[in-house]
Amino acid sequence: MTQEDAQYIRSKVMAHNKWFEECIPMIASENLMSPLAKEMLISDFADRYAEGLPGKRYYQGNIYVDEVELKAIELAKKVFDADFADVRPISGTVANMAVLFAFAQPGDTITTCALAQGAHISTCEFGAFGQRSVNSVNYPFNEHDMNLDVDGTIKLLKEVRPKVAQFGLSVFLFPPPLKELQDTFNEIGCLVWEDCAHVLGLIAGKQFHDPLREGVNIVSSSTHKTFPGPNHGLLLGQNLTEEQEKQLQKAVFPGVTSSHHLHAMAALAVTLAEMDVFAKDYAAQTCKNARALGQALYERGVPVLCPDLGFTRSHAIAVDVSQFGGGKDCAKALEDANIICNKNMLPRDTSSVRPSGLRLGAQEMTRLGMKESDMVEVADLISRVVVKKEDPAKVKEDVKTFKRQFTSIQYCFNAGEPAYGYHKLVE
Ligand SMILES: *Cc1c(COP(=O)(O)O)cnc(C)c1O
Repeated sequence: MTQEDAQYIRSKVMAHNKWFEECIPMIASENLMSPLAKEMLISDFADRYAEGLPGKRYYQGNIYVDEVELKAIELAKKVFDADFADVRPISGTVANMAVLFAFAQPGDTITTCALAQGAHISTCEFGAFGQRSVNSVNYPFNEHDMNLDVDGTIKLLKEVRPKVAQFGLSVFLFPPPLKELQDTFNEIGCLVWEDCAHVLGLIAGKQFHDPLREGVNIVSSSTHKTFPGPNHGLLLGQNLTEEQEKQLQKAVFPGVTSSHHLHAMAALAVTLAEMDVFAKDYAAQTCKNARALGQALYERGVPVLCPDLGFTRSHAIAVDVSQFGGGKDCAKALEDANIICNKNMLPRDTSSVRPSGLRLGAQEMTRLGMKESDMVEVADLISRVVVKKEDPAKVKEDVKTFKRQFTSIQYCFNAGEPAYGYHKLVE
């Protein structure tokens, strides 16, 4: 019955494809790859191994792999204006582990943001940081600004004198105040590391902020959130010594990877080439859409955080739905209406299972060609479910109709190809 099982799996994946074709995608950590990038995932690269650096592989058979990887490194340096790039980490978490392996010994102290304030689990005590036995000390946070408290952070850095000061969030509404912290970094001589997983695509498009010009030495990232590439990771460096660059490369391999998912690396290279051309327009429209969505929801009685700060400067907004049943129930009701988003903790929440918020991202809708006026329609559909408590099954029909206008991916070389179609490598 093996073949039946395989058919079963294939039919479920196809059902998922069909479903997402009819959904409004609002998970802030997801995106759609371009047709050209996605094609790389089903190439023969997917079946191969490469260990080490281009030109110095352990296995044979990497002639073209090396050429692709060298091109990927060159493009990454160009797109982010970076001194150093490593395209081998197979995810954002693995990129973070590589930074830890390179620059933190067990017992060292790293300053970082707290989970409840939007940090990622990998930088928390029970995630990679804690499991590497690194002591993490959290910066003070200003809930009103949804950002670090600058004076408190300066004081903390001077007291703790960390080896590495780490920044970056998964609910990342505003850029960290790096310029204001620069003198303190210089005074204590720490490495500055930012995890840009959520905002990499915005940084590629010169939106949000420019970490490598604001004193950051190491950027670690996923490549599939606002950066619309494959599930993969990336490391960038600026003003690192040659020794530090080597330490990072050694941490990636043989530290935390063996082969580095060559098909995904090739897809990343294609996405970098596309972002070199399209990132500016894509990122600017993404940020405009996020603000427009925030404004439209706010006008419909949904408390969006930071109204006096324009809601956000990134792709994401955070909304407080505690008065409408909480994040868990609202996210489920929205899913029943084909609007896909996630519940999220807000600063005062103590339960991650029943948090009071939703996190909504505009990047994937932007990729599908939506503009500010479409955000108003999306806000309408959301408020019908969340505020007016209309039957989600009824709203779902209108979501499907709305989504039919947006079936292809924009901001890429083959714009216009179906977003949820199939790829054939050999004609
Ligand atoms: C998503 C995320 C990660 C993890 O990325 P993966 O590619 O899923 O491993 C790391 N850090 C931050 C801030 C994130 O938001």
